[in-house]
Amino acid sequence: MGNMMGGTNCVSAGVKFSSFIYWMMRGGVKYMDIYLASDINNSIIESLTDGTGIRLVIFTCGCIHHCPECQNPKSWDIKNGVRIPVVKVANYIIKKLYEGDFDGITLSGGDPLYQSDAILELLVILKNKIKSLNIWCYTGYLYEEVKNLKAIKYIDTLVDGPFEKDKKFPKKKFRGSWNQRILHLSNGSVVMEE
Ligand code: SF4
Repeated sequence: MGNMMGGTNCVSAGVKFSSFIYWMMRGGVKYMDIYLASDINNSIIESLTDGTGIRLVIFTCGCIHHCPECQNPKSWDIKNGVRIPVVKVANYIIKKLYEGDFDGITLSGGDPLYQSDAILELLVILKNKIKSLNIWCYTGYLYEEVKNLKAIKYIDTLVDGPFEKDKKFPKKKFRGSWNQRILHLSNGSVVMEE
């Protein structure tokens, strides 16, 4: 990831500039806020288990699925999260990506698509800055339920479906239960990984 994004010169100036351009494109409308699972340092962390390669994982708050034996029921209620401007989160992620050697980012939760408008805004900023950025997203929704969300077109791989405790299947990588699908999305096509 480090190589594909080039050097670290003028990163913050570039971020500020692209943020300004985006603000202009929005007609001066203020950025949204997003609810992270906790403070920004603890909600955006490196992981080897949430998608292929080394991922920067963003944990959001809010989830309507309430799966039995969910590992993080505190994340269900968005009020348990920390509210932060999307642009601040985007700048933090871009800085981390430039500093580290990541293969992409992964949106996790809670359910990131619970805040699909804020996620869309985040992904637009990130993709505007790093066109080759690979994006995974975990969701408790089925693809068929969310496929028309604008945020979906920025996501390369969707791991969909609720966690079902009776379908735990630890040998399957990157999912908590075997009903969950790994769907690679590209220009409207959907390829399911076995
Ligand atoms: S979708 Fe994920 S965060 Fe939401 S209840 Fe199910 S396991 Fe928990």
